[in-house]
Amino acid sequence: MALIVKKFGGSSVANAERVFNVANKIVEDYKKGNDVIVVVSAQGDTTDDLIDKAKEINPDGASKREMDMLLSAGEQISVALLAMAIEKLGCPVKSLLGWQAGFETDSHYGMARIKRINTERLQKETDKKNIVIVAGFQGINKYDDITTLGRGGSDTSAVAIAAAMRADLCQIYTDVDGVYTADPRKVPNAVKMDEISYDEMLELAAMGAQVLNNRSVEMAKKYNVELEVLSSLEVKPGTIVKEKVKMERTLIKGVAKDTNVTRISIIGLEDTPGIAFKIFNRLAQAKVNVDIILQSVGRDNTKDITFTVPSDQSKQAIEAIKELKDTLDYKDISTDESVAKISIVGAGMESHPGVASKMFEALYSAGINIQMISTSEIKISVLIDEKYADNAVSAVHDAFIA
Ligand code: ADP
Ligand code: ASP
Ligand code: MG
Repeated sequence: MALIVKKFGGSSVANAERVFNVANKIVEDYKKGNDVIVVVSAQGDTTDDLIDKAKEINPDGASKREMDMLLSAGEQISVALLAMAIEKLGCPVKSLLGWQAGFETDSHYGMARIKRINTERLQKETDKKNIVIVAGFQGINKYDDITTLGRGGSDTSAVAIAAAMRADLCQIYTDVDGVYTADPRKVPNAVKMDEISYDEMLELAAMGAQVLNNRSVEMAKKYNVELEVLSSLEVKPGTIVKEKVKMERTLIKGVAKDTNVTRISIIGLEDTPGIAFKIFNRLAQAKVNVDIILQSVGRDNTKDITFTVPSDQSKQAIEAIKELKDTLDYKDISTDESVAKISIVGAGMESHPGVASKMFEALYSAGINIQMISTSEIKISVLIDEKYADNAVSAVHDAFIA
């Protein structure tokens, strides 16, 4: 007998037929004598639809607290429906919202972090041999207000339960049959991996491969929770995500694309010490996640600083910089949302020179201009015009993998 945590994403429970498909998988493991805790996301496009509804009421952006109140409703629907399907199949089941399942978070609405899971209720229900269905993506803060964990956050809910309950298995079911070298929906010759290390998966996820949420991988690494990413529609082995994997022949593990990127340029800054500190300190205070940074020399002893932020934080970033108006001298600020970040990830590149040049050659051959570059030990990212993003992924993927 084992304790199994299973997570099903939105497309896996999108309609009644899919809900029953998932219910059958759960019941199958339960009937073998296992304890099963399930995390589900909102059905299909429910979360996006709820965001649209909020925009109808307030196009300028509702408060984050009320957004979380709204968005958590999507998962409330799917847990109840899945529990009803399991009831229909004749098994004991309880659905729980995030707070009922003990998810205590900080108060960063829309992007809350899990502080602790009080496992009492989960334990009680599994002891009673109930299948437990938990609403992903949500928790409660110290003011007893509902919070959400950020888009794709149900993956993190599942990993957190697996860690807190010391589960034997954590399976992330989705609409593809594993982790590929690039998004298999965009790159037809992408290759499925049998396994991938936490570090490489973390970079791929952080660089835009949405198959796993990056915080979920961070947490899996921290608590050493081995994950399996697999299909909810086909029965076959998926991809194992774990600490140590077999040595691979391939230099890079995957190519990822992130279009949720905005480039911000501050032009004509004074060229004196402390300017970068002033800007990025203010951005940090405003909780803006700055990614690639470039400083270049302008005319007449001035400099320009260009950096990228997630598009949903660009308004916050601009406001933060404008607040520095009295102490920061510059000519102009400009933003460009039509950019994309293309990244290659692989632990192998650390010991192999020439990886960057090969990537740049592939982009050059495809006629794609590079605007910014950033590197880490196991990753190289470039910023390009968004309209070439898919071409760029294919060109780079072909150069290294196909
Ligand atoms: P879920 O609703 O199950 O959480 P997501 O839509 O969040 O599913 O993630 C699955 C999707 O991730 C796939 O449909 C696929 O298009 C996309 N994806 C992006 N990069 C990759 C990759 N490297 N490997 C597999 N899937 C990827
Ligand atoms: N329903 C949430 C979202 O669409 C959480 C998730 O799917 O993981 O982002
Ligand atoms: Mg997801």
